[in-house]
Amino acid sequence: MSILVVGSVAFDTVFTPSGEGRDLLGGSATHFSVAASYFTPVRLVAVVGDDFGEEHLAVLREHRVDLEGLRRIRGGMTFRWSGKYADNLDDRETLETQLNVFADFDPVLPPEWATTPVVFLANIDPDLQSRVLEQTSRPVLVAADTMNYWISSKREELRRTLAGVGLFFINDSEIRQFTGRFNLVQAAEAVREMGPDVVVVKRGEHGVLVFAGEDVFALPAYPLRRVVDPTGAGDAFAGGFLGYVGSRLDHWPPDWRKAAVVGSVLASFQVESFSLDRIRRLTLPEIRERYEEFGKLTRFGELE
Ligand code: AMP
Repeated sequence: MSILVVGSVAFDTVFTPSGEGRDLLGGSATHFSVAASYFTPVRLVAVVGDDFGEEHLAVLREHRVDLEGLRRIRGGMTFRWSGKYADNLDDRETLETQLNVFADFDPVLPPEWATTPVVFLANIDPDLQSRVLEQTSRPVLVAADTMNYWISSKREELRRTLAGVGLFFINDSEIRQFTGRFNLVQAAEAVREMGPDVVVVKRGEHGVLVFAGEDVFALPAYPLRRVVDPTGAGDAFAGGFLGYVGSRLDHWPPDWRKAAVVGSVLASFQVESFSLDRIRRLTLPEIRERYEEFGKLTRFGELE
């Protein structure tokens, strides 16, 4: 089984309380692909410019990400994003977004990718998300993510994309901005009325809330002693989550709770370093060990 992802491949410049990093390999699809690759093979649809070098491609290649859908635009510049985090590491200000080659990207799926069973529309222009979705053929699961930038600039386009989405990842401030509801239960209900059956609300250091059918699952974030750079945590979460789901498609519906724990494990590794330095070097035993630690963290006995 495979997962198809469309999203940004980027160079990020970030300022965090631990320091700064310039022109780091990033992008929603990059973080997602590496995280998901520990469980399921990944097919990447994105675009880069001439400035995207072999050393950057190597990070994706070393995780066996299929790059047939990655276009390189001659004379173009790769997408660039810059952000600054507050001391609480949850609030971040976007300093700059340069769409560059994404401004006129027209994604075309390799024909044999149309039937990929799991499709992830990572954070990117909702119009591009829709154009990819139109080229797929009856996927088992379509999941999507977004961010404040698109909620402000392309709200109606995002609503249209959501009509074809089964699972939506969104963070707490964004779901409030998107629905106009402060209460997260009500906000998730409002999103479910737009299409998605499953809504996963990411709450930064407070963890996640998963709304799936009648089930509501709440999970804390892994308590780390030191968070270096939160960039990509949401994408690594989605990668772990969907990578796990993709590896068990013979069990439907999937165990959304376990998927959320796997996602949280990958997100916790993501934030331990700048860029992909930590997450690209993981081993399955390390992932499993942190998964077990999540169990200990949240287990409690009967009330006597
Ligand atoms: P996250 O921290 O999970 O929200 O994702 C951060 C990643 O999203 C960074 O690596 C950025 O390159 C990428 N990103 C930031 N803004 C945008 C945008 N407007 N569209 C697509 N990707 C973006």
